[in-house]
Amino acid sequence: MSIRRPVYLCHQPGFLSAQLKEIVSRASPCILCPRHCRVNRSIGKIGFCATGLNPVIASYGPHHGEEEPLSGIHGSGTVFFSGCTMRCTFCQNYEISRGYQGTQVTEEELAEIFLKLQGLGCHNINLVTPTHQLPAIIGALIRAIDAGLCIPLVYNTGGYDDEKTLRLLDGIVDIYMPDLKFAEDETGQIIAETMNYPTFAYAAIREMHRQVGDLRLRHGIATRGLLVRHLILPGLAEESKEILRFIAEEVSKNTWVNIMDQYYPAGDIVQSCPSLYPSLTRRVTQNEVELVCKTATGYGLSRGFFTSQE
Ligand code: SF4
Repeated sequence: MSIRRPVYLCHQPGFLSAQLKEIVSRASPCILCPRHCRVNRSIGKIGFCATGLNPVIASYGPHHGEEEPLSGIHGSGTVFFSGCTMRCTFCQNYEISRGYQGTQVTEEELAEIFLKLQGLGCHNINLVTPTHQLPAIIGALIRAIDAGLCIPLVYNTGGYDDEKTLRLLDGIVDIYMPDLKFAEDETGQIIAETMNYPTFAYAAIREMHRQVGDLRLRHGIATRGLLVRHLILPGLAEESKEILRFIAEEVSKNTWVNIMDQYYPAGDIVQSCPSLYPSLTRRVTQNEVELVCKTATGYGLSRGFFTSQE
């Protein structure tokens, strides 16, 4: 278990309640994510993310397959929220991300899940795809703190986040773990139904880094900071190169970057691969992986994908 106090425990009384009030107001009409659907979720209206304000949990438990600084020895306490603000054609968790799978829970039950994960020895609470469920998450956090929660929060997103919403998490989240998926607007639009993905994701990641800085470890376990994931997409290595340039030159060369090569054609991609991206029906090649890793090194990035250096 982490020894450092999570940032959410370092405030005067009333801070979290004030943040919660702002977050709740951003959900009705909903402008929590860049889509700004503006549906009134407090009366049960559903937006693009396909879920109401009571979260649907696909699963939860200690996860030993996350990045080493998160999983550590006892696992990362992952909570998988059903629904998503993106619609990646190749999504490997199709049933979850489309909001079809899971159990609806109340704020009280979500708080109990957080405490249960802490009780199992997890090093953190890892909120997977949390943005559209923020009101319940912060409400549950306040309840769980009252009952003794004291491990860091990990905000694990697809990178398509609204900077203003993120600002309300300053002082609440210790570890941000966004994906950085696409460097071209058109790619995001065609593959994930997002408008201006790079603009929003770049602004979001700058804001995340402003709040928490580079990833810091204590005895090998993450305590605070930014960790960026990038899944190499077949045939799109040029976009990977631009993403790595952005991280190195506009965020920090000390950013922990997990370059992932495990893409496989999943979700809708085999049946309805966009004609502009025929390569998405195959896996990435060794040459592509080497090129992307070499680019990262060339930009001076060295943390994360070379785990032996930490
Ligand atoms: S969180 Fe959901 S309802 Fe709200 S703006 Fe985003 S997609 Fe729309």
